[in-house]
Amino acid sequence: MGGGGDRPSLLSGLLELLLPRACVGCGALGSAWCPTCLDADFDPVLHRPDPCPPGLPPLAAAASYSGSVRRAVLAAKERDRRELDRSLGAMLATAIGILITQPEWPSQFGQLWLVPVPASRSALRERGRDHVSDWTRWTVRFLQAVRIPARSVAALRRTTAGRDSVGLDAAARAVNLRGAFSMGPVRPPPPGAMVVIMDDIVTTGATLVSAGACLSTALDLDPSQLGTVVVAATQRDRAR
Ligand SMILES: [Zn+2]
Repeated sequence: MGGGGDRPSLLSGLLELLLPRACVGCGALGSAWCPTCLDADFDPVLHRPDPCPPGLPPLAAAASYSGSVRRAVLAAKERDRRELDRSLGAMLATAIGILITQPEWPSQFGQLWLVPVPASRSALRERGRDHVSDWTRWTVRFLQAVRIPARSVAALRRTTAGRDSVGLDAAARAVNLRGAFSMGPVRPPPPGAMVVIMDDIVTTGATLVSAGACLSTALDLDPSQLGTVVVAATQRDRAR
């Protein structure tokens, strides 16, 4: 970055420091995301997109993609509002709480591997950070605080497949995303470990299926070892 382009970001950075924080939901001054907005929009549930793509592991969402949750995700992701990361990490932790208390989930498990869906290379260049990975670090801290042996594992890499899925329907998205991920240098998890894929939002579920297929094959996972969580599920597909 160079020249005059630095000036607006310096100014906005200074203003951020000088002005009191405003809630991303209602604009009330005092916190980045006020308790009233959080309470109103936070609603963790098991979720299945409709139609549900074959091979989608069990999925829990912390909220619908609407209201202050939608604004918080967009602000943290597109406008680098990192002060929201902690709350978004807590939301993912709560979604994991829903997932691991399902009857299908083993009552005893070893490590809990949290695998963030990585940002595409172009998104990384544009935004300068991998937001889901940053939220996952908070999730790990919240889970460890309640003695759940969680760790963040950057197992997935983006390939050049599956570029831009905007405007594609569910089937076209699934085709577009085939082979969208490859594995980083990761050894298989220890026996008894469970693997949870982490993402910001779910729409058709195609990204999670593609990520799950890559992990299952490379790490030789049983389907019962895999789950997925997201901050928010798009509302039109929300199962109630
Ligand atoms: Zn608010």
